[in-house]
Amino acid sequence: MAKINDIIREAIKQMQSQKKVWTPLNYHEVFCKVAKENGLIVEECRQLDKYIEKLDASLKQEISNFKVKNLDELFMFLSSRLSRSLKSDTSEILEAMYVLARRILQSIAVLHNKKATDLSNYSLEKLKTKNDLKSINTLKDKWFDFVTSYDDSFLKKIDAYCTVDKTDLEKFVNGIVKCFNNNNDQAIYKKLAPLIIATLSPSIASSIDDDLASISYELRNSPEILATDSIQDDIKNMIKKRVELDKKEMKKKISEVDKILLEIEKKLISLIAVSSSSNKNVKKVRNELENINFQADSFEMIQTKLLNITDSLEYETRTLNDKMIENQKIIRSLKTRNEKLEKALIMAKKESKKDFLTKLASRRALDEELKKIESGYTRYKIDYSVCFVDIDHFKMVNDTYGHDAGDIVLSALGKILKKFTREMDFVGRYGGEEFLMVLPNTHLQNAVEFANKIKDIIANFKFLYKNDRIDVKVSIGVSERKNNKSLEETIKKADEMLYKAKQNGRNRVCFS
Ligand code: GH3
Ligand code: MG
Ligand code: MG
Repeated sequence: MAKINDIIREAIKQMQSQKKVWTPLNYHEVFCKVAKENGLIVEECRQLDKYIEKLDASLKQEISNFKVKNLDELFMFLSSRLSRSLKSDTSEILEAMYVLARRILQSIAVLHNKKATDLSNYSLEKLKTKNDLKSINTLKDKWFDFVTSYDDSFLKKIDAYCTVDKTDLEKFVNGIVKCFNNNNDQAIYKKLAPLIIATLSPSIASSIDDDLASISYELRNSPEILATDSIQDDIKNMIKKRVELDKKEMKKKISEVDKILLEIEKKLISLIAVSSSSNKNVKKVRNELENINFQADSFEMIQTKLLNITDSLEYETRTLNDKMIENQKIIRSLKTRNEKLEKALIMAKKESKKDFLTKLASRRALDEELKKIESGYTRYKIDYSVCFVDIDHFKMVNDTYGHDAGDIVLSALGKILKKFTREMDFVGRYGGEEFLMVLPNTHLQNAVEFANKIKDIIANFKFLYKNDRIDVKVSIGVSERKNNKSLEETIKKADEMLYKAKQNGRNRVCFS
């Protein structure tokens, strides 16, 4: 084995003979070569082999082909291999994809779908100028939107008329053309005609029913007339007219329903006013009203329901009316009974001979007695005098002390008059606070004396009401039958004298 000094000498020799530049790297290279040739393994010289050992077989092969001699060359080789591999794989794939995308977009652009064409042209434009990640992502989203919203169900519409291949646009178009050229028109019209008839009828506007029926009839019998311009115009006009009329009809019907509703509302309000709100029928009507579904029910159904409601409302009103009429009858009969009773009471009062308040003779009794006395005068010349007694300012008594006090005064006065007249005299209540004393067999002078006595008694009498002493005075008019032509005139004269006494200052007696 050669000594290390010999190897170093040999390496320097070779450096000189090969005229290598004296750099550490060149020296290292030559030294390792000589050492290896002399069978000397220097750890430092094995570095390159160690690195190469770790690489895969294809790279090892390439390294030996390229005769990589040192670490520098190895690094150079590896870095160039690395950049070469990046170029060939990633960027070239990207470039190819980019071109492919352009080709696809160009293809889509020639297809006859406006949305797709527009989007393709837009994408191509964008890709030309910008191909950064952000704008590519935007395009990607736009295409996603297009694909997800694309609806090709329109293709199926043709199934009603032709069977065509829909997978290929050219085949599709050719198929349709063939289908239409196949002398098959008749069949298509036959299929179309009923559809159009269905569109035309039934209309809710009855006024164009006849026109619709005639068009429908024509179409049904000869569907091929669909191809004529005139029938197409007719159909167009008819549909337009129908829509307009239907609108009008709808308005009319709605206003009819509104009217019914208004009636129901009025009836309900009046019904609720007269019947209790818990009324069974009112509740029923409300329920029925709530059950009407203006969206789902047909117009006829709504109308029927509403009419049913009005019927039951009418029934309810009629029943109530009947009840009220019955009640009114009862009220009216009660009223007449009451009136009769009142009349009877008045009659009874009139017919009664005794005045209920003063216990004196009543006006009726007074009249009867006067007739008797008068007949005594006419038959037997039995003279008599009459004294008309009237309380002075009696209204004031009532006003000051109340009506009850007035009644007490009247009743007390009745007692006084009764007490101080003779048994054969007759005292009665003529009316209100007026009394008549009939004195048989009494001449005017005695009658006046008696009247004065009565006047004074009354004036001095203590009329007591509660804690009050009420001052009561009377005026009296006196007349004698003998001096007059009749009973009536006698009374009239006494009345005139009473008036005179009042005129002369009251609390006095006047006579004639
Ligand atoms: P004059 O001195 O002019 O007679 O005045 P007067 O207030 O007495 O006369 P007037 O005719 O103005 O009023 C009579 C009053 O007598 C009115 C009426 O209310 C009252 N009167 C009549 N009958 C009754 C009765 O039964 N009870 C009571 N309390 N008052 C009566
Ligand atoms: Mg009077
Ligand atoms: Mg009076």
